[in-house]
Formats: sequence, structure tokens, C-alpha cells
Amino acid sequence: MRIDLHTHSAVSDGTDTPTQLVRKAAEEGLDVIGLTDHDTFDGLREARLAAAEAGITVLPGLEMSCKLDGASVHLLGYGCDPHNQPLLDELTRVRVGRTGRLPEMLLKLTDLGMPISEEEIAQHVGGSPSLGRPHVADAMVAKGYVKDRQEAFDKYLYEGGPAYANRYSCDIRRGIELVRRANGVAVIAHPWGRGRDRELTPAVLSELTLEYRLEGVEVDHPDHNQATRQRLRSLAAGLGLLALGSSDHHGLGKVGHALGCETTPVEVYEEIIRRIRQRGGQL
Ligand SMILES: [Zn+2]
Ligand SMILES: [Zn+2]
Repeated sequence: MRIDLHTHSAVSDGTDTPTQLVRKAAEEGLDVIGLTDHDTFDGLREARLAAAEAGITVLPGLEMSCKLDGASVHLLGYGCDPHNQPLLDELTRVRVGRTGRLPEMLLKLTDLGMPISEEEIAQHVGGSPSLGRPHVADAMVAKGYVKDRQEAFDKYLYEGGPAYANRYSCDIRRGIELVRRANGVAVIAHPWGRGRDRELTPAVLSELTLEYRLEGVEVDHPDHNQATRQRLRSLAAGLGLLALGSSDHHGLGKVGHALGCETTPVEVYEEIIRRIRQRGGQL
């Protein structure tokens, strides 16, 4: 059984519609994918219809934009009730916050000699309710300012970068609580990728587990090298955290994240399902 529990559709910043994503997963021989669009459940219905047709399973999920001491941290929630009002309210706040910082980013880009209009960004958003830096990056590529999304992020859009603007995001502790109260399973995405180990120290991960009931971490993720995976796997084992593996696929939007390039062991997946079922979450 091949299981990839972290993927994005065009409903957030991937490039495939939920239907295309599910069909590709089936073609790649995956049995289960988790759809984890940023801060929205909007793609789930379509993905599940497509999954029924393609004969694979979609685990309902989302990836919440959170923060820890001012640094960005991503939280995966599996099996959350998509009608849970406190969670939905928070997701709306995060999405509004993200859209709200766009003018400031565009101003900074203009100052850097790379003018882009809001209309030009809109062309890259598609049907996504979740406008983010990847869409700004796509517009920069289209205007010929950079060669791909990666360059846009590496040079300008990274956290604290010359074209970066701060925005509202949910405190990680509150995020975990919201996921738990919506009957979901809370997992930290790529905890030690891209320098996040500075904030998500073993002590912090231990606190999040013992006091806020974090239940898992992504260990096998393209942003983690082998040494990082080893350290993280033993920390997870010590804390009793589930260790997941996933591609973080974004379609053509991100290189090095091919569907199924990292997978979650079947016993870990079954444990996630068991917990969601036990609390009456969404499957
Ligand atoms: Zn992420
Ligand atoms: Zn992701």
C-alpha cells in the first residue's frame, strides 16, 4: 500500500485541480493521498468524488499557516470536521490576513524594480480562496523577473526577505487545539526543514506533545536530509509521536516534490484512521 499524506491542489497553491491530482495519484500507483490545501477545505468534495471514481482513498486534511515566536510553522490537520465553526473562523482570519498583505508586498517589489499589479497576480490565483506568496512568485516568473518560483522565494519572498510582508497567522498552540477540538489529528509539517529547527527545538516539540496533544511529525519530507530524518525519528519515538512521510506535492509549482516520492508506513496511516474514527472526525 502506498500512502502520501501531504499534497496540494490548485485550490491552494498546487497546479492540478483536485480531480487531476487524484487521477495522477492513481496513475502513480498510490492507494491513499491526503489532500492538505493551505487554510481551506474547499477542494475536498471534488477530490473525494474523483477518488471514488479512480478507486483510491483521499484522507481529508488541511495545512494551517501557524507561527511560533514570530516564525512560520505549518500544521497538518487530518480528519477535522469541516463544519467546525471555531476552526473555520480561524481559517478565514488566516486567509484574510494573507490577502491583506499583498499591497505591501507589491509596493516592495516596485521599489526593487519589479512592478506587478494586483490584476497580474489575480491571473495566477485561479479559483483559489487562499492567495499566497506562490501566486506572487508565479506572476514574477510570468513577467520574467525570475526564472522560477524557487528563485522568487530564495531571493525576495522568503520570510524576512526584501519583498516579504508580515501577516496574521495562528499561534501553533492554538492551531493544535483547534484541530483537536474539530476531532482531527494534529501533525507538524516539515518541522526541521528550512531552518525551522531553530524554533521547533526538541524542548518545544516535547511541550507541544505533552501539553497540547500534538500527535505526529513529518519525518520523511523532501526538505529533510538523512541526518535530520534520523534525529527527528528518534525524537518522535521518544515522545510517542507518529512519524509520517509525504511528498508535499504542488504539481508543477515546486520541484523535488513528485507525488509519492515520500510515503507514510501503512501502520502509521492505520493508526491515524483509528484515532479519527474513535473521535468521530471526518473520514
Ligand atoms: Zn508547508
Ligand atoms: Zn504543504
